[in-house]
Amino acid sequence: MFLLRFNAARVWRADEVKNRLGWYYKVMTDSAPARFLICGRVPVEGDLGSLPTSDLWRKHVEASNELRGVLRVIEAGATRLADLEAPDQSLLDLKVELANRMVSECHLCEWRCGVDRWQGKKGVCKLDARSRITSYFHHFGEEAPLIGENMGGSGTIFFSGCVFHCVFCQNHDISQRPEVGQVADGPAIADIAEKLRNTGAAT
Ligand code: SF4
Repeated sequence: MFLLRFNAARVWRADEVKNRLGWYYKVMTDSAPARFLICGRVPVEGDLGSLPTSDLWRKHVEASNELRGVLRVIEAGATRLADLEAPDQSLLDLKVELANRMVSECHLCEWRCGVDRWQGKKGVCKLDARSRITSYFHHFGEEAPLIGENMGGSGTIFFSGCVFHCVFCQNHDISQRPEVGQVADGPAIADIAEKLRNTGAAT
């Protein structure tokens, strides 16, 4: 595999790449936590399920500002994720609530179909509210920084369905036929990501 992607082994020696993708590199090499984990440490108060969406977005702005502060502290090495208390409810929960509401009158992409995908209604992407996976594997054809210094490949998960209708799509058989994928919920997708990572995937 080294012969196939020798550029992947070398790319992280370039200062420009390390500067631009510094945090990504740290997460890849397990020397920094992924940002979604840090989101889980930023507390958010209130009964999220009953608040109007406008209030939730206001909370999102406030909590995101707090997140930026926490990120700065972690990036400076002044604290670690493990030192931060896990709140009962966090910015991550708030993001989940907002995403769920967006799906109920879907405006997750710029088609802004407005359909309630939780009720099985479908818009341009032809997807209901469930994610569908067609395959997952160690991918050695991605951009060099994603392959990893140890040639583990990127941990790729292919979902079926797409909001674009590009006539030159190389994945047309899955991008335009969402029904071919296997339904997978959040924990199942997390299991796949963990399995890929535990078997050497770089990202
Ligand atoms: S194309 Fe799909 S994701 Fe985009 S707004 Fe329509 S239903 Fe939502």
